[in-house]
Amino acid sequence: MVADDSKMWRTILKDLLSSEGYDVITAEDGLQAYFKIYESCVDVLISDVIMPGLNGYQLCRILKKDPHLKDMPVILLTGSADSVDRFWSMYSGADAYIEKTSSNALDNVKKILKNFKWKSDMPPQDGKNVFGAVLDELLAETTLRAEISELSNHVEDVDYTIQKIRNLLRSLFGIKAFAALMITMSEMILYSSLKDMKKTEEDLLSRLKRPYFPSYHTYRTIDGKEDVEGLNSIYKVISYDGKEEGVLALWRERSFSVREEKLLSIICEEIGGIFKNIIEVNEYRKNAYLDDLTGIANFRAIEGHLEKLWNSGKNFEISIIDIDHFKKVNDSYGHEVGNEVLAGLGKMLREFGEKHDVFVGRFGGEEFMAISEKSNFLTSVMNEFRQMVEKAHFSQSMPTLSISVSAGVARRDDFSSYTEVIEFADGLLYQAKKEGRNKVISYESIG
Ligand code: GH3
Ligand code: MG
Ligand code: MG
Repeated sequence: MVADDSKMWRTILKDLLSSEGYDVITAEDGLQAYFKIYESCVDVLISDVIMPGLNGYQLCRILKKDPHLKDMPVILLTGSADSVDRFWSMYSGADAYIEKTSSNALDNVKKILKNFKWKSDMPPQDGKNVFGAVLDELLAETTLRAEISELSNHVEDVDYTIQKIRNLLRSLFGIKAFAALMITMSEMILYSSLKDMKKTEEDLLSRLKRPYFPSYHTYRTIDGKEDVEGLNSIYKVISYDGKEEGVLALWRERSFSVREEKLLSIICEEIGGIFKNIIEVNEYRKNAYLDDLTGIANFRAIEGHLEKLWNSGKNFEISIIDIDHFKKVNDSYGHEVGNEVLAGLGKMLREFGEKHDVFVGRFGGEEFMAISEKSNFLTSVMNEFRQMVEKAHFSQSMPTLSISVSAGVARRDDFSSYTEVIEFADGLLYQAKKEGRNKVISYESIG
């Protein structure tokens, strides 16, 4: 097929190629070429770029969208040696590119044609029907991609983003249940509408090519607790730049058609970028709000938490916890052992906090903080913690080394800022130290 709006070029090319033994059909513009290609089982297309209606780039792109024609060689002929032309030719998926102005343009056409051996096995059909369907698909694809990449603007709100993705998939495929797993260096986050989170996690993790053993697990429920027994499922590994970022799973009554699967693949390509951004924001947040040594909330996170609590008007209790004679640990065993103790204490405090629903963090140095929203609760809890610390051994290299902590406990009441609450707790801690350490002094006991 020779497509060119210039009669002169059509004639030159037709004569040349006929004399070489090719059967040549011609078209005067892109759309005509498109329809004739479907009617006449064309094996190779030589097309001008600038043509009325559908131009050469568009013709090439739309042909390459058809699985039957995607391997049909396309040679684009351009009037100029412009690098922009070259860019668009390659971007359109053309197989070769020849400048009409070059003195050996015709020889090049002959030479390049000899390399192409592709034969069409497509039965003749009405190109108009195909054109409509391909255009539909292109539009759907473009719309979906735009819809999903718009979500990139909201990745700091993970719940919102995942909800939006779920809604899109629901309206598109009528899904019943949904699960999205995201993986970071050490953590996995699972969003799921299924009943059993643990089982869903295992199921989705097993779809990853690379084995992955997260040390932290976050589970988030998206509305219903669905039962997926008897439903059709589809799993898609989500990657970005070849790196696995997570897994998406959908369940519904009907099975997924080939066309739906293709659409889902396109969506998943876009979701790859979203997952990557979510994971990055997540890591960044963690680095900004978690203490490096202990992995628990740092001073900034504690301050943020206190500020939120204060502004909410809720009552709360806080405790400042300080290691007794910690300087001696450093002096006798070295800074490294000191760090081991701090990390071990941080871990113990985190687990303790999770168990009792107490917010914990490292306030600075060898001082920690615990915050509870319950009343008359923290004092007994801190005493329990104090006794646990007394019995624990935190250093592997110094297994006999033991430490103790002292703490002061204060509550919101009677103060006009959270800084004053901290100061009061600090005063009680100082008193505990004076009274011999390994001791908790609370506002409760002093009345
Ligand atoms: P007290 O019972 O009165 O609290 O005595 P202390 O020795 O624990 O208190 P002091 O405030 O005199 O010393 C605290 C020590 O904690 C000094 C400092 O070197 C050590 N420290 C603070 N941060 C770190 C850290 O990140 N790693 C290590 N290894 N030591 C730290
Ligand atoms: Mg201190
Ligand atoms: Mg101390």
